[in-house]
Amino acid sequence: MKTLEILTPEDKQGIDLPRLLEDEQGAQGKKKLYIESYGCQMNFSDSEIVASIMREKGFATTSSPDDADLVLLNTCAIRDNAEQKVRNRLSTFVSLKRRKPDTTIGVLGCMAERLKAKLLEEEKIVDMVVGPDAYRDLPRLLEEVETGQKAVNVFLSKEETYADIAPVRLNTNGVTAFISIMRGCDNMCSFCVVPFTRGRERSRDAHSIVKEAEELFNQGYREVTLLGQNVDSYKWTSEDGTEHINFAHLLEKVALVHPDLRVRFSTSHPKDITDEVLYTMKKYDNVCNYIHLPAQSGNSRVLKIMNRTYDREWYMNRVDAIRRILGEDCGISQDMIAGFCTETEEEHRDTLTLMEYVKYDYGYMFAYSERPGTPAAKKFVDDIPEEVKKRRLNEIIALQQQHSMERNQMAIGKVHRVLVEGTSKRSTEHLQGRNDQNKVVVFPKHHFEKGQYVNVLVTDCTAATLLGEPVLSED
Ligand code: SAM
Ligand code: SF4
Repeated sequence: MKTLEILTPEDKQGIDLPRLLEDEQGAQGKKKLYIESYGCQMNFSDSEIVASIMREKGFATTSSPDDADLVLLNTCAIRDNAEQKVRNRLSTFVSLKRRKPDTTIGVLGCMAERLKAKLLEEEKIVDMVVGPDAYRDLPRLLEEVETGQKAVNVFLSKEETYADIAPVRLNTNGVTAFISIMRGCDNMCSFCVVPFTRGRERSRDAHSIVKEAEELFNQGYREVTLLGQNVDSYKWTSEDGTEHINFAHLLEKVALVHPDLRVRFSTSHPKDITDEVLYTMKKYDNVCNYIHLPAQSGNSRVLKIMNRTYDREWYMNRVDAIRRILGEDCGISQDMIAGFCTETEEEHRDTLTLMEYVKYDYGYMFAYSERPGTPAAKKFVDDIPEEVKKRRLNEIIALQQQHSMERNQMAIGKVHRVLVEGTSKRSTEHLQGRNDQNKVVVFPKHHFEKGQYVNVLVTDCTAATLLGEPVLSED
């Protein structure tokens, strides 16, 4: 169901454009690692930690699986189709394994955690299965494989945050970077596999986060995105008990690193996002005016059986607070699930009317996919026929397309501060970057370069992109 321009995170990040991590400089004589990431930004961030751990053991990364001694797929289990894509990808490595039987193939991430040793039985070419909290153990597991055995570590930790590991920034544009601020999730939304695949929620040492942001700034990066499944429940206390840092405090500390370092964050949970966070966003110009606020449904009964712990009114109240404190301009995006168990037509229409109320800038929309072992799979019947799910999803996507267009049209005639991320995908004569609200802006290159902030007068748009002209100074 991806006929429109609105793509799921998997499309953008893992499937259509598999992001290969490459670091071939100084790689001669070293063993080679090829790593491919699927799913959410968290996985891309984790792959950078994995590359760092393996670099310590003498591995350089390569963009070609054919050159690799070690091939790793960092996987997603959020929906059935995410897992099918990984299985299809694994089947393409069969001939590689035949040609080069010494190549080790490992599956990392959420699918590894969900299926554990079963994955070794189901996918014969896999040598190694490693869950998200066991990456420090990769070198030992690799040694085990080298002795001719298969290796598995899917132990979930209550403490692991990889805080001390400096991620190797790979396949980077040199301008924007992700920083993981926490791991796991304690929320238990009934449809979701994440609490089972990524374990209990834990927050990373605040000082190590600020240090990472400072280092990135000094290396020339100009934007960081603070990542967690539920950033608003970030909570860290220093060992001596004197410092208690919540998400609003952390946001402030990162914003203070430098006024030219933009700060974004994802994901905000509607039950937890506080006015304190909104006022911190307002206080610092470099904290971007954009909030990803997944709703999942616009109907209170469905939200209740999803165990989202808020209802429609609560969600609308949070949106009102965003508009009151940060204004109409603040970008808001959603995640929605179509056809959750027992959802009626009327309840589906509540999702559409919620969308009308909020007028989201952007959305990630999915048909419900039952995940084995989740509370929903245990308690409810997945009773909405596939064609009904698809039709409802189409209606949600069509409405989002309309709203994205309307919101983008509001940007026309205004000057936007754009951080340039690189050359436009469609034309080498144009640059592309993002404005404060996370919208992609394309404009003629002139003398501007990657990493610069440019004021751009927006003159036109599509539902996905703003088009404009840089405002050139007189001299
Ligand atoms: N922590 C984030 C939150 O609470 O919004 C979401 C993380 S999840 C990786 C990303 C999105 O996948 C969810 O917001 C939800 O819309 C979707 N999702 C999760 N489980 C799903 C399922 N079983 N079927 C369809 N979509 C699902
Ligand atoms: Fe999944 Fe809910 Fe946690 Fe998000 S908050 S990761 S949807 S359980």
